[in-house]
Amino acid sequence: LRCYGSAPSELQEKTLVLAKPDAVQRRLVGSIIQRFERRGFKLVAMKLLQVDQGLVDRHYQELRHKPFYPALVAYMTSGPVVAMVWEGYNVVRCTRAMVGDTDSVGTIRGDLSVHISRNVVHASDSVETAQREIDFWFQRDELVNWESRDWGHTYRA
Ligand code: GDP
Ligand code: MG
Repeated sequence: LRCYGSAPSELQEKTLVLAKPDAVQRRLVGSIIQRFERRGFKLVAMKLLQVDQGLVDRHYQELRHKPFYPALVAYMTSGPVVAMVWEGYNVVRCTRAMVGDTDSVGTIRGDLSVHISRNVVHASDSVETAQREIDFWFQRDELVNWESRDWGHTYRA
């Protein structure tokens, strides 16, 4: 999976990223945040929270009938999660590419995890999913609208 694109509307794209309970327990939250910061994305919301089953059901509604779903709920509610919203150019596609799979070396999952059931991070899989997921995890007023000063250095001015 690669990330590219050129439509100006993509500049303001937002996505939901979760540092899952294993990331918090293993003290990997900083490393995960750092990957997105270094890339040049802008953090617009972040919080630590204990998730309940209702939120997991909404977030993973399309997986409810999978055999591993009870294990997924137990995992996601096993301890606190750090939820973040990142903004930037093609951020949905880029973030998915950066998150990768447990068996793709060089990605966040490939570098920080060894098993699909403890894969440290979530990222929304499309612009539409991202909007829906951001609304599940954040109130509108928890998103901070701020201007980053690096614009001309990170993007073509
Ligand atoms: P993602 O979009 O890359 O996160 O992957 P999926 O949408 O397929 O699955 C969502 C999440 O469910 C994954 O990130 C894993 O945390 C979990 N999951 C997926 N497959 C399995 C599995 O076979 N066993 C377990 N225990 N968890 C799984
Ligand atoms: Mg998925």
